Amino acid sequence: MSCIGTAGHVDHGKSTLVKVLTGIDPDRLAEEKERGMTIDLGFAWLTLPSGREVSIVDVPGHESFIKNMLAGVGSIDAALLVVAADEGIMPQTREHLAILDLLHVSRGVVALTKADLVDEEWLNLVREEIETQLKPTTLVGAPIIAVSAYTGLGLPALQTALDSILDVAQERQNIGRPRLPIDRVFTMTGFGTVVTGTLIDGIYKVGQEVEILPSGIKTRIRSLQTHRHQVEVAQPGSRVAINIANVARSDLRRGDVVALSGQMHPTMLFDAHIHLLADAERPLVHNAHVELYSGSQEVPGRVRLLNTEELQPGQSAWVQLRLDRPVVVARRDRFILRIPSPSMTIGGGEIVDVEPRYHKRFQKSIIDGLERLSHGSPEELVMAALDRRYAFRTGAKAASTGIKPAYGLIGYELADIVKHCNLAEEVTQQTRVRGAVVERRV
Ligand code: GDP
Repeated sequence: MSCIGTAGHVDHGKSTLVKVLTGIDPDRLAEEKERGMTIDLGFAWLTLPSGREVSIVDVPGHESFIKNMLAGVGSIDAALLVVAADEGIMPQTREHLAILDLLHVSRGVVALTKADLVDEEWLNLVREEIETQLKPTTLVGAPIIAVSAYTGLGLPALQTALDSILDVAQERQNIGRPRLPIDRVFTMTGFGTVVTGTLIDGIYKVGQEVEILPSGIKTRIRSLQTHRHQVEVAQPGSRVAINIANVARSDLRRGDVVALSGQMHPTMLFDAHIHLLADAERPLVHNAHVELYSGSQEVPGRVRLLNTEELQPGQSAWVQLRLDRPVVVARRDRFILRIPSPSMTIGGGEIVDVEPRYHKRFQKSIIDGLERLSHGSPEELVMAALDRRYAFRTGAKAASTGIKPAYGLIGYELADIVKHCNLAEEVTQQTRVRGAVVERRV
């Protein structure tokens, strides 16, 4: 199952397009209907010409609701970037495109909407403008289809283009560690509390024991729905509504994560590699206040720059993010950074370690370790995990009195790395690692 997210400036025709494509009005709230503007996320689904069923998350285009947009694009497979032919590229077209780029969304189609309002010559000018804008991003070369929700022009071509980009999309990974970043919570008469989100990294089954993180509330999956149909098993990549047992709506909020009990651990510190947008207004200083957006979570924190005094626009750095509240994240998750005032997206990055120690700055060994964790071969990754466990044990031994010896990997687990990198086969072929397993060091 695939999930497509809309993107684009307010009033460029996103919701209207989703409505004509799916027959579902994604603007759910009374206020949205009154103001004729998308405020929060909308959800719809359709069957493409190939028979593939896809979910669509419709995001608000207005800059005041960018937080809602970010909660929606966290786990999409492809983007439907909407640009109105009469206006062309506008500020939130640029910001949304930058966000898609930072999240490494590399599959997308551009819908050049309201084509009924302009002539061919103008259409071609806007097309060129979009091509130029896409060039430095992950969406370079995305097909640009002129459409009109009013006349129906281009709609079949748009559906075919969506089908083709999803043909080359990788299957959503199932690494046996399902998590559902919650984007909506509501109560349904006769059912109780329901949470929705896009399921990633695994499957959920009715009856499973789960926990809500970071609060740690334990609960059970009472029933599951995808696209309003009851299912016994929910698949990775699909939009899922989970009816959970005995949890009050007031105990849940957008940004919480539903995970299998004991599988994920909230953290307030992680290591990451970040990129500051080339058009960021100023350099990022050490300890700068930022807002982190990951999945549907939004948490304030500070950036500790590990290998530079000041990060210049367009440049990248190794950092530790120290958060004000716990987040639920995994290695390889991508995230967005914004600053609160003036409110703007400044960059983003990828997580490499979810439970690091507090690092000293400007330490070559630490930067080398992060490089290895980020780009290392499967063998290096596994050995790094073993080293940490070893270091942890020796540390515990050294502080022999008073401290309870603890065992087990700290941070991420070896099994996680193996699953994450789809390594099982390569890893067992590596003799050093096989040796380690035989010696029961793992
Ligand atoms: P959103 O904010 O991007 O979701 O934009 P909407 O879908 O709310 O559309 C904004 C306005 O553009 C509405 O008044 C729509 O009726 C109008 N609109 C949307 N699509 C088309 C189109 O294909 N042609 C024309 N002429 N107007 C359109």
